[in-house]
Amino acid sequence: QAKSNRLGSYVYNETLGATYLYEAKLRSDISEAIKQEQIFLLYQPKVDTQTGKIIGVEALARWEHPIEGIISPIHFIPLIEKSVHIHKFTRYVIEKAIMQAKQWQLQDIDMVIAVNISPYNLLDINFVQDIQTILTRHNLSSSSLEIELTETAMMSNISSTKLSLIELQKIGVSIAIDDFGTGLSSLSYISQLNADVIKIDRSFVMDMNTNKHNFAIVEAIIHLSNRLNWTVVAEGVESQEQLNTLKSLGCPYAQGYYFNRPLPADKISTLMADNIAY
Ligand code: C2E
Ligand code: CA
Ligand code: CA
Ligand code: CA
Repeated sequence: QAKSNRLGSYVYNETLGATYLYEAKLRSDISEAIKQEQIFLLYQPKVDTQTGKIIGVEALARWEHPIEGIISPIHFIPLIEKSVHIHKFTRYVIEKAIMQAKQWQLQDIDMVIAVNISPYNLLDINFVQDIQTILTRHNLSSSSLEIELTETAMMSNISSTKLSLIELQKIGVSIAIDDFGTGLSSLSYISQLNADVIKIDRSFVMDMNTNKHNFAIVEAIIHLSNRLNWTVVAEGVESQEQLNTLKSLGCPYAQGYYFNRPLPADKISTLMADNIAY
């Protein structure tokens, strides 16, 4: 137990009683974290592969914990997902993202902003109405907001998930299926969902140039999406070579470290003001 109390060393060590206490502590810290503005957003550009222009951004949460330092969402989201805190957290993130999108609009920067949500958010019957309220409060058009939900999440609790997603689309918010290809969902289910955007999981893109199977999967998802009029985005693009492959397969949009890591809002403003093209 004399180990460091950094999150990294405990989170994977389930045998330590300390892990449990530690996680409980973090979970209870989150409310305070929201109040104290310790949660902040970084934004990663989505790029049009043909023009090289930035067409949107994905908001990614970070927690600047006073003792632990910056905590990744991979660590803290699972801790709060099954608690009531996830509702407050997601509303906070959505409001911050919407305020940022509005600010960009006032600087003549028009971009769709994508926010990740947890499947638990869709179990909250006020969720869609609350999003509408936040959009109205900040006078942002619903077409500027996109909601990303993982394929696995969409598979859980199918009927209620589907209803909430339809409600979101009704108010004009678009829906992206995140981590596509990892969730074992049937194609018939996916096509029923009628999502607007499909994001090809990074695990396929990563080695598609050396792994024939993953190449075939990426190719198939792009062709299917183009046929069904889904906007397709390749995630985790890290090299020029991967970008070239995606272009040759007809993938219209891409995101990844090759273009940018997730960046603070003011860096995005600068890139847009410079009218950057990759
Ligand atoms: P995700 O939605 O699949 O987001 C993509 C993740 O991959 C991000 O990690 C991003 O920084 C990273 N990434 C982007 N491009 C590359 C690349 O080229 N190479 C590599 N190796 N990684 C890349 P991040 O920011 O750590 O977020 C991790 C996950 O946490 C997200 O995965 C998302 O599921 C979740 N998450 C982040 N913010 C939120 C949030 O506000 N709410 C919820 N519910 N989940 C969030
Ligand atoms: Ca995402
Ligand atoms: Ca993803
Ligand atoms: Ca992911």
